[in-house]
Amino acid sequence: MHHLDNTTAERPNFVTHLECGYTGERLAAGELHNLSPAGKPILVRYDLAGVAAALDKATLTRRAPDFWRYRELLPITRPENVVSLGEVMTPVVHARPLGEGVYVKEEGRLPTGSFKARGLAMAVSMAKELGVTRMAMPTNGNAGAALAAYCRAAGIEADVFCPADTPEVNVREIALQGANVYRVNGLINDCGKIVGDGKEVMGWFDTSTLKEPYRIEGKKTMGLELAEQFDWELPEAIFYPTGGGTGLIGMWKAFAELEEMGWIGPKRPKMIAVQATGCAPIVKAFEEGTEHAELWQDAHTVAAGIRVPVAVGDFLILRAVRESGGFAMAIPDDVIMAAQRDAALDSGVLLCPEGAATFAAYRRALAEDRIAASDRVVLFNCATGLKYPMPEAGITLDRSKPIDYSQF
Ligand SMILES: *Cc1c(COP(=O)(O)O)cnc(C)c1O
Repeated sequence: MHHLDNTTAERPNFVTHLECGYTGERLAAGELHNLSPAGKPILVRYDLAGVAAALDKATLTRRAPDFWRYRELLPITRPENVVSLGEVMTPVVHARPLGEGVYVKEEGRLPTGSFKARGLAMAVSMAKELGVTRMAMPTNGNAGAALAAYCRAAGIEADVFCPADTPEVNVREIALQGANVYRVNGLINDCGKIVGDGKEVMGWFDTSTLKEPYRIEGKKTMGLELAEQFDWELPEAIFYPTGGGTGLIGMWKAFAELEEMGWIGPKRPKMIAVQATGCAPIVKAFEEGTEHAELWQDAHTVAAGIRVPVAVGDFLILRAVRESGGFAMAIPDDVIMAAQRDAALDSGVLLCPEGAATFAAYRRALAEDRIAASDRVVLFNCATGLKYPMPEAGITLDRSKPIDYSQF
């Protein structure tokens, strides 16, 4: 591999310590952690002055276009622990037919077809670095597939628990990528309980969303990439389909780190948390002005990736949304599906249902004057639309009979 390969490059490590995201309690880096002693997500802290002294923008932009190029802002210490399946910097498509200021971040180009690859590449690499041999997680599909693939690449055993109605393609993908996969008659939080209750007896490292420190660091690369792709002038708004909120929290953290390095100014995008009407705990908490969100009863939506009735990082999501001057919005399933169809027909962009929810939210925010048509907005298309069931289509032709060309 040539010298631009970011996965094999030397990795000067700038991590100073870990920190409880709620109490600020300091925790040691270099050892395994799940939640903090207060039962909250843990954040990784860096010597950002040191990073700024070691790296400049010109050096960064000459590196190969994958998310390992941000290695000074990532936690892995030794190159041999990097577990990689060919992660790319994902394109930002200026989708003018959807709106003059609309940019779609195409996360489906990542390994396993979703942005879960970012978080799991980082979590599995760190697990390898810290000597983990068996990982487990609850999933609505995409996270489990990414865990399965990266664990296989790392030689770590993976056990994955899905709600019984997880899309079939996801369950089969997880199995084909070599994980043990189980269907549970419940929702993702019920699956999470099986992992939490069984981790002692099974020797599992619990890789549930935000229950270990490193998936956020992987998702943070979305914020670093956006800053770089927008030439260090962040867009006016980011519409993010919010389940556990890892990406929203991660991007918010990335922007703070870049500002502390002096690479961007204080201006921030409005962070807009998009959920489905059938599962909108964050929207409810935002509207009620609370710090935490209540468990959502009877959660249901076609957008499986955001069917998350309770998020352990709820306060971090709500904090980012509020500090940014953003808001939270819930979209009904039929409006999500209409947005998916419109986007495909108008622009050629195939949105996954979760991505379509962001487009629907954008249209509504525009109609309600909460966003200006001149604003540059980023919609997160977080998985390839090809992973989801599609409407039946196609007309059958019988080539043994004369073709009636007037019908086309
Ligand atoms: C996981 C997932 C989400 C939600 O992402 P979080 O960062 O956990 O909130 C949205 N869409 C898709 C397709 C997903 O797989």
